[in-house]
Amino acid sequence: MPTSEGGPPIKVAVLGGGAGSLTTALELTVPELAGKYDVTVYQMGWRLGGKGASGRNAAEHDRIEEHGLHLWLGFYDNAFRVMQDAYGELGRTSGPLQTWRDAFKEHDGVVLMEPIAGKDVKWNLPFPRNGLTPGPATSPHSGRSRRPSCT
Ligand SMILES: Cc1cc2nc3c(=O)[nH]c(=O)nc-3n(C[C@H](O)[C@H](O)[C@H](O)COP(=O)(O)OP(=O)(O)OC[C@H]3O[C@@H](n4cnc5c(N)ncnc54)[C@H](O)[C@@H]3O)c2cc1C
Repeated sequence: MPTSEGGPPIKVAVLGGGAGSLTTALELTVPELAGKYDVTVYQMGWRLGGKGASGRNAAEHDRIEEHGLHLWLGFYDNAFRVMQDAYGELGRTSGPLQTWRDAFKEHDGVVLMEPIAGKDVKWNLPFPRNGLTPGPATSPHSGRSRRPSCT
């Protein structure tokens, strides 16, 4: 398909299927660019997600296998924007992860450990809620939201 500028789409190879690469691929395919780029993502093996990937091991009672616990702090505005855009564009109407909110579990606490007199002492730090939604809707610092279907 020719681009809005008349020429053929510019071929782009995106190496890797981690969050960084997939965000790049998403940004290069925004509607405003009107098909300017013909993007191909190359990932070694079959699994997307890189260090953020997770899956289940059917041979081990379907236990979750991943690199580790992943937490996003409420001020990761651009990261939340990407997720909101991606889920908005997916437009799922069935299944367990229909919206970006389904993909996150809210949490208000942080625990820090400090060794004191030979013992690990726990510091529980509960943070008060501010009532805001992470992402561009409430942050003056994040980039634009470009996918109109984003909710
Ligand atoms: C245990 C752990 C816990 C973490 N916890 C958090 C957290 O709580 N919050 C947070 O924000 N971040 C966390 N991070 C960091 C976050 O996961 C990474 O910063 C992020 O996933 C990196 O994304 P990336 O796309 O840059 O790279 P990666 O996720 O490493 O993706 C790179 C991809 O490229 C592929 N690849 C490599 N070479 C090639 C090649 N030559 N050709 C094709 N494909 C290739 C790899 O297979 C991989 O899929 C954590 C990381 C780890 C390991």
